[in-house]
Amino acid sequence: VSHFVILEAPLAVVLMAFGIFMLANETVTTDLRRLAEEDPLTGIYNRRAFLNLMEDACSKGQSAQAGVPLLLVDLDHFKRVNDTYGHPAGDDVLRTLATLLKSCARESDLICRYGGEEFVIVMPGMTTQGAWERVDRLRTTLGDNAVMHGDASIHVTLSAGVAVFPEHGTDELTLLANADHALYQAKHSGRNQVTVYQTG
Ligand code: GH3
Ligand code: MG
Ligand code: MG
Repeated sequence: VSHFVILEAPLAVVLMAFGIFMLANETVTTDLRRLAEEDPLTGIYNRRAFLNLMEDACSKGQSAQAGVPLLLVDLDHFKRVNDTYGHPAGDDVLRTLATLLKSCARESDLICRYGGEEFVIVMPGMTTQGAWERVDRLRTTLGDNAVMHGDASIHVTLSAGVAVFPEHGTDELTLLANADHALYQAKHSGRNQVTVYQTG
């Protein structure tokens, strides 16, 4: 007994401390990774996470021989919301849109806040028509329901551009550029609409 106490008990303590340290280290690493990939305002993926995961989604689409629609969603005249109701009200609108996006997403969809008031949704395996319909329904829902901020009821609409892998691009940056082009068309044609990228 005395032999154990003198030699092995301290060793056990050291090993236990090491184990606890490793567990804590693991938790910190996981937390840091989550923070690096998460948008703090909405809790959804940020641009960095999106670019990493998008590559993955495209290669899965390729092996499944299925299309991967990418949708770029942008709030209409959002600057006016901030100017009229204040920045915190604008933040509420952004959180509401993020919640709405999450609520109508499938398990395999990728949703992220790409920039200030721009969101990206990727729908692996979905047809172009199906993706368009889903986002168009979202557009109607947002347009029909005011966002409440204190006593203010804020009416906002969204526009979106759709580009589909591999038809409209085989890498994430080309797809994004083409979705952005389609979004520009939607804005140019009066906003509050979802537009599919036209080749040529
Ligand atoms: P358009 O219909 O052409 O998209 O017009 P817009 O006003 O939405 O576009 P613009 O790009 O001119 O303005 C985007 C605004 O989004 C400006 C910026 O202050 C606001 N914004 C960006 N990030 C945030 C944020 O985190 N919170 C709030 N409240 N506003 C933000
Ligand atoms: Mg914008
Ligand atoms: Mg906008």
